[in-house]
Amino acid sequence: MKECKIDECHRDTIDELCIRHTAALTSLEQMFDAWKIAYGEKYSKTKYMEALLKDDNGVGIWVQEIIKFKLQED
Ligand SMILES: [Zn+2]
Repeated sequence: MKECKIDECHRDTIDELCIRHTAALTSLEQMFDAWKIAYGEKYSKTKYMEALLKDDNGVGIWVQEIIKFKLQED
């Protein structure tokens, strides 16, 4: 067993991310698809994630933790 890659999270997992954060990542991707339709293809994912960190729009803590992780990764 490994630990989830999210710093704040210490759940055991067989993948890089625990079940909760995997689900959060999936919903982040889905929301980004919807966002692109609304704002256009040129809207970058980084901009999108930064906007969600400032104003979470009710996305929730799991998604915010994923965003912080992704922004560090880039
Ligand atoms: Zn996790």
